[in-house]
Amino acid sequence: MSQRRGLLIILSSPSGAGKSTLAKRLRAWDPEIGFSVSATTRAPRPGEEHGREYFFHGHDEFRDMVAESALLEHAEVFGNFYGTPKAPVVAALESGRDILLDIDWQGGQQVRNSLRAEDVVSIFVLPPSIAELERRLNSRGQDSDEVIAGRMKRSRDEISHWAEYDYVLVNEDIDTAEAEVQAIVTAERLKRIRRPGLTAFVRGLNTEFEERL
Ligand code: 5GP
Repeated sequence: MSQRRGLLIILSSPSGAGKSTLAKRLRAWDPEIGFSVSATTRAPRPGEEHGREYFFHGHDEFRDMVAESALLEHAEVFGNFYGTPKAPVVAALESGRDILLDIDWQGGQQVRNSLRAEDVVSIFVLPPSIAELERRLNSRGQDSDEVIAGRMKRSRDEISHWAEYDYVLVNEDIDTAEAEVQAIVTAERLKRIRRPGLTAFVRGLNTEFEERL
């Protein structure tokens, strides 16, 4: 009925706050939501595939993409470059398909500055406590204390940008956080401003009124 533009959903959080799980669950809830596969210069981790988790590129290729304005945003994270390919995002929005971006605060800022405000909703995920964040970072693998300390510092930087986001949730319980993300997406999709087709629909209702009254 009311054809709408797609919605770009930015999900950011410090690592260890549950962002990847929430992103996965959101896409399981609605498989129509596309996922923006980022380009990165970091090396693939075991099990990661080119084109699925990331597009893995060398520094020169990445620089070329930046020079050609092929990226919607890009940033340096943990000494590697990451960026969002622009074309798939633009295509999704124009075809009315929602698209999810798992990007850091720097990317979030750039996307908000380069797209129309009505195309974007941003969600920040906070951990319930620093102790819990540290526990989650530690339980990931056999990373050294130094690596964990580096992540903690970066987490602090990331959290300092929480107030730039439209919605902020505290991931104390993953099921609750999942329901909250679904509620946000549902409400944002229903916003009048995103549904230009409603004008014609209401015009139709009025025509029916006129026929009856
Ligand atoms: P990882 O290397 O662990 O997959 O990701 C590290 C960080 O990079 C995460 O916080 C993630 O949100 C961020 N990131 C991943 N892709 C992009 C991107 O395309 N742009 C930006 N700005 N950050 C990204």
